[in-house]
Amino acid sequence: MKRWDVVVVLVALAVAGGLYFSGLLRADTPGGVAVVYVNGVEKARLSLLQDTEYRVETEHGYNIVVVKDGKAEIIDADCPDKICVNHKPISFRKESITCLPHKVVVEIEGGNENSVDAVVQ
Ligand SMILES: [Zn+2]
Repeated sequence: MKRWDVVVVLVALAVAGGLYFSGLLRADTPGGVAVVYVNGVEKARLSLLQDTEYRVETEHGYNIVVVKDGKAEIIDADCPDKICVNHKPISFRKESITCLPHKVVVEIEGGNENSVDAVVQ
């Protein structure tokens, strides 16, 4: 019985350790971050945990990026096609909104897909 108990404890420790370290890996992006790129250059990192508004100025025009209720979206822009403005809000890892005319990309980094992170925060 005792030997079996040791095995159980070791397995529990291994699982807890794995969860702990996977949590550490994501610690820099709790709840996800909306990263704003202009022409491939990172311009801003907006935490999805905090409602905010960010105006992107490019040589072609502007985009207004808004973070609200854990989601990021472009609410306004002076680009001709307005595809970015019409895009639905994004919140999951690797989702992105692209404004081709302005070469603006908003991409989600980090984990909103893991609700454990939100609880920790
Ligand atoms: Zn656009």
